[in-house]
Amino acid sequence: MSTDVILSMRGIVKEYQVGNEISTVLKGIDLTVERGEFLAVLGPSGSGKSTLMNIIGCLDVPTAGEYQLSGMQISNQSEETLAHIRNKEIGFIFQSFFLMQRQTALENVKMPLIYADVPEKEQDERARRMLERVGLGDKALYYPNQMSGGQQQRVAIARAMCNNPTLLLADEPTGALDQKTGRQVMELFHELNDEGRTIIMITHDIHIAEHARRIVRILDGNIGEGALEDA
Ligand code: ADP
Ligand code: MG
Repeated sequence: MSTDVILSMRGIVKEYQVGNEISTVLKGIDLTVERGEFLAVLGPSGSGKSTLMNIIGCLDVPTAGEYQLSGMQISNQSEETLAHIRNKEIGFIFQSFFLMQRQTALENVKMPLIYADVPEKEQDERARRMLERVGLGDKALYYPNQMSGGQQQRVAIARAMCNNPTLLLADEPTGALDQKTGRQVMELFHELNDEGRTIIMITHDIHIAEHARRIVRILDGNIGEGALEDA
């Protein structure tokens, strides 16, 4: 395996039991992502995108198949180890931001650093730098309900980056934003990717996916690169 491969999936299957039936949601996903890529996973609602994101993000484990992230075998790890890997390797960005409402922008961005046992003074410096990086240096002491949706998503992006993760993983990052604000978030993703951040973005929206440098399509639990018909 080339050293630039940071994520490698082979034959990933995810099954759920619903009543007496087994439902196969992912049907053998193969995916390789190299450092520095900006990849979109594009598929319609119900195609398995969030299920795949949860596995990529070590929030869930596959029923079968091999998953390696940063050279580590993920498939058979304990919940405790997965939590550790998540915190170190992955910066999550969600459609609905998931900011803590009773904490300021600065406190929200610091959160992963607290879990990572970064010294307090450094927490503050790094969090402030990240807020400046996303253009919110003057909003450090604002609470989420004092900010627009686009600003809240930028706080979430700063939080995702402040631990310097291997991978930024975004699930429908513009889904709750109007078009113009969504485009601004995509511009920020472009800049971060130009600075070397690896980004995987999951979306149902072809116009959003087209901001990425590579698109893979997911349909009914199968993945393909460009070959599938338009969803
Ligand atoms: P998407 O994010 O592309 O809309 P999901 O990954 O959320 O798709 O869901 C894909 C399919 O898997 C859906 O048919 C959904 O009903 C099913 N599914 C997701 N999670 C579960 C679960 N915990 N138990 C049973 N079925 C699930
Ligand atoms: Mg989803």
